[in-house]
Amino acid sequence: MLRTSVRSKDSYRKRILKKRSEILKRLSKELNEGITKGPELKASPGSDLGDLSALSLDSHLSVSFVRRYSNMLRQIDQALARVDEGSYTICEECGEKIDKNRLEILPFAPYCIQCQRRMEEENRRASRLNQSDGGPINDSGE
Ligand SMILES: [Zn+2]
Repeated sequence: MLRTSVRSKDSYRKRILKKRSEILKRLSKELNEGITKGPELKASPGSDLGDLSALSLDSHLSVSFVRRYSNMLRQIDQALARVDEGSYTICEECGEKIDKNRLEILPFAPYCIQCQRRMEEENRRASRLNQSDGGPINDSGE
C-alpha cells in the first residue's frame, strides 16, 4: 500500500527540520524586535524557544503571535511523526496524496490544498457565527 522509501523519508525529515530551524530563527528575530520595540514579549534569558509558555505575555498581539508559532511547531512535530509512520504525503482529512509542490512550500502541511481551503472556509464561517460577543479565546488547543 503506502510505501515510503527510507531515502525519501530522510529527505522529508531533512526538509521539515530545515523549515523548523527557519521558523525558530524567525521567531527569535521577532522576539528580539519585540523586546527592543517596547517589551510586549519577554523571553526569559536562556529559555528554550521550543517552550513558548516560558514567555511572559502582556498583549493580545503577542498571544496570537505565540499561538501562530506554537501551532506551526506542533504541526512540524506531527509531520515528523507522520514521516515515521509513512503517512507524511497523505492528507489527514481525505486520504489523498498531498501535492508535492505544496509539501515543498509547506513541508508540515497535514492536508491537501482542497481540504485546507475547505477547512479555512468553514473556520471563517464558524468564526463569523461566534463573533457576536467577541468570544473568549479557547486556550487549551486540545
Ligand atoms: Zn484532503
